[in-house]
Amino acid sequence: MDLVGAGVEGLRQWAASVGLPAFRGAQIARGLWHGGANRFAEVRGLPRDLAARLDSGFALVPAVEARRQEAQDGTVKSLLRFADGKLAECVSIPTSDRHTVCVSSQVGCAVGCSFCASGLNGVERDLTAGEIAFQVLHHHRVRPVTNVVFMGSGEPLFNYDNLLAAIRVLADPDGLGLGRRRFTVSTSGVPARIRQLGRDEPQVTLALSLHAADDETRSRLVPLNRRWPIAELMAAMDDYGALVSRRITLEYVCLAGDNLGEAHAERLAAIARRHQAHINLIPFNPVIETAHRRPDEAEVAAFLAAVTRHGGHATVRGQRGNDIDAACGQLKRRVEADPGGCGASPAP
Ligand code: SAH
Ligand code: SF4
Repeated sequence: MDLVGAGVEGLRQWAASVGLPAFRGAQIARGLWHGGANRFAEVRGLPRDLAARLDSGFALVPAVEARRQEAQDGTVKSLLRFADGKLAECVSIPTSDRHTVCVSSQVGCAVGCSFCASGLNGVERDLTAGEIAFQVLHHHRVRPVTNVVFMGSGEPLFNYDNLLAAIRVLADPDGLGLGRRRFTVSTSGVPARIRQLGRDEPQVTLALSLHAADDETRSRLVPLNRRWPIAELMAAMDDYGALVSRRITLEYVCLAGDNLGEAHAERLAAIARRHQAHINLIPFNPVIETAHRRPDEAEVAAFLAAVTRHGGHATVRGQRGNDIDAACGQLKRRVEADPGGCGASPAP
């Protein structure tokens, strides 16, 4: 039983199904969503013998924090261990006016982009709705969460049902009550699911990981492009655009000597103009298992200028948590023995 993924109402129903009176269900839901409880014994007001009985039969939350790393800028990366021993990371990113949590949707990733740590060893399994939602709840307990981005490991649109269930549980006013507009789903590009998301959750923000605006380059960087080339993806984005009023984001990882320069900038700007999208340039965060290099600041600035000159609306994403390998694309799923910590690349 996925007690987090069930949502508050589902949790109440579960309590009734195991023979508890309604007020106990409400008490447990409060303890879980607002009282910081990880076990029934931590739910306020629950008699000790009842709590012990429930704890011996059911897991209130689906994960424990196996490791926690804090970066100098306040970014916190948590490695969660789920009931079957699988691991996934989530990142808390506090700023003066926001608290964003970056969550994983799968253990590993099947897409295998050439620059990303998450896909190095394929996908192991989908995360359940509760395992996704708990990543947010976990960090919310330290500081109220304002925004959720599906930019951790995994391709969220390959785990669509659990993605939607997690958003709904987190948006529930009896849970965290996060507005739909507070969620950003980042995808490497699954046309049918992009259309479906537009129909199912038109208020959620979509970020498309484009990374190259021609098929030759993109197929090399994002293998999914061989299955759904740019034209197909753009057709899906047209349909999506007709369904939603939110501005979409195009993510573009900047790789030195690869997808930068005038011609790439011109093609990227053209696509952004067509979809009235905002472009987010992400300087490559080093993953030493890959052959890519991080461009220097001048190169990124020149690319930004070129994109802007061609009419693209772009900004460069600030980097957070890099000293603990918590930046985009650096999330893995293993605990390493070396003191470099989880997600850290083995020391060269
Ligand atoms: N699978 C989804 C969501 C997770 S990746 C997707 O690909 O969109 C979140 C973002 O981080 C994507 O835009 C991804 O391309 C980017 N990213 C991955 N590896 C990176 C790296 N090494 N440096 C910078 N950005 C990276
Ligand atoms: Fe998967 Fe996204 Fe990483 Fe590509 S960038 S391997 S889709 S997590």
